Amino acid sequence: MARQPMLKFVKVARDMPEKRVAEERREDFDEIYRQFADEKAAEQAGRCSQCGVPYCQSHCPLHNNIPDWLKLTAEGRLREAYEISQATNTFPEICGRICPQDRLCEGNCVIEQSGHGTVTIGAVEKYITDTAWEEDWIIPISPEVERPESVGIIGGGPGGLAAADALRRQGIQVTVYDRYDRAGGLLIYGIPGFKLEKHVVTRRNEQLEKGGVTFKLNCDVGTDITFQEIRETHDAVLIATGVYKSRDLGGPGAGLPGIVKAIDYLTASNRKSFDDEVPEYDDGTLNAEGKRVVVIGGGDTAMDCVRTAIRQDAKSVTCLYRRDRANMPGSQREVANAEEEGVNFAWLTAPKGFTGEESVSGVMVSRMRLGAPDASGRQKPEEIPGADYVEQADLVIKALGFEPEDLPVVWKEDDLEVTRWGTVKAHFQSHATNLDGVYAAGDIVRGASLVVWAIRDGREAAESIVSYLNNRSTAIAAE
Ligand code: FAD
Ligand code: SF4
Ligand code: SF4
Repeated sequence: MARQPMLKFVKVARDMPEKRVAEERREDFDEIYRQFADEKAAEQAGRCSQCGVPYCQSHCPLHNNIPDWLKLTAEGRLREAYEISQATNTFPEICGRICPQDRLCEGNCVIEQSGHGTVTIGAVEKYITDTAWEEDWIIPISPEVERPESVGIIGGGPGGLAAADALRRQGIQVTVYDRYDRAGGLLIYGIPGFKLEKHVVTRRNEQLEKGGVTFKLNCDVGTDITFQEIRETHDAVLIATGVYKSRDLGGPGAGLPGIVKAIDYLTASNRKSFDDEVPEYDDGTLNAEGKRVVVIGGGDTAMDCVRTAIRQDAKSVTCLYRRDRANMPGSQREVANAEEEGVNFAWLTAPKGFTGEESVSGVMVSRMRLGAPDASGRQKPEEIPGADYVEQADLVIKALGFEPEDLPVVWKEDDLEVTRWGTVKAHFQSHATNLDGVYAAGDIVRGASLVVWAIRDGREAAESIVSYLNNRSTAIAAE
């Protein structure tokens, strides 16, 4: 009888791949977790209890077939595990690295509810696809039949790239337009290497290119080419432009030099990891070295800024957040990583202005307490009168979230319907906008969200676009 490799959660404790010690990881931008050894991955996958109703799967936005690929991994059948994993996820090794698993799949793993640590789903997902890359199982797309129709995708982030992949697999001609010089969106210029090393993204871009996807980079739609030209060139269009307008702060001294936006700061740092010329980094504007750094915000972007500043050899790094630890939007895992690396968190604090003459020298901070819940049910932070102080700072990084650009204005396309928040209005399932043949996916529809949701949207939008093109061909043939 075959050995039963599953249900080991009672005997085997949850264990993540080895995490590099904080002193070592402060010195570079490499990922902080090492790869699972083969036996360890199989052992950890074997902790799964193979639930009849797998809540992990229903709470994964891609509905990944998690129990099946865990079982195959436990049995050492990695190629089959990879085939199942990639069937529902375009970039499993990326999600395995950066999904907030504690809020998604792992946060709903039943063995945790029975008092055992959750299955390390994300780490196993990463292990399976990293192995697939090592073994050359991931090959460029080669469609059985080439179709004449073409689709223009505006934005080469995870949403746009997931759609590009799915459309090319159907033989459709795909052009991705992106205003940056590299594809990948926030995977390249937002998320730092210590969470997601750059080669993990660029090898995907190269593979898509080899599979026939055309990239038109350094091409800002609205400036270098009009939206209308893209519509005329292609049979269908996908808008996947993400959200890039940074929320700002007012108050005295808000315009002082030394106060910068998180996206500019992170982009500069990520560019340096490609050895690009970055004058604003070299002249110190976007470089934390030797400085007292204050980051304002409590989300993932703020966590990425504080940890980047540590690696740039800042003198000190403090994060100001107006609620407490339990109520912050960022992943608890990332806060713990930041604390280990030496970041100081000032919970229940809010900025009300800045000090300094020529450049910023401090942040005027109010101490807060949590009051009655607001309409959303979250306790509202209130200022504690007379408890203000100044947090000394040479560099202040604003990480307060992002909003969409005003696309109908920027693209001179008044007819494109947007919501009152400025996100593009698209059907929740088909992703169709109000313009014929125009679809939208990812953050530009959801507002700032997650990579895994952008991938899901991109895949679903591609499916709708294929149906749209098929219906159109049928209608033309019937004429
Ligand atoms: P994006 O990734 O933003 O890509 C949009 C692309 O469109 C960009 O390449 C941009 O250059 C291009 N573009 C925009 N306008 C134009 C135009 N007019 N013409 C041509 N091209 C254009 N999510 C997670 O799941 N886990 C994380 O750990 C995580 N960390 C994050 C850290 C940071 C600092 C940030 C900012 C976000 C993080 N996110 C994380 C969120 C995640 O990155 C986004 O939800 C995801 O990238 C959205 O994908 P997208 O394809 O919709 O847009
Ligand atoms: Fe979990 Fe994300 Fe993988 Fe889904 S895609 S299984 S949520 S890590
Ligand atoms: Fe396995 Fe946990 Fe998913 Fe159940 S919920 S199938 S134990 S990973």
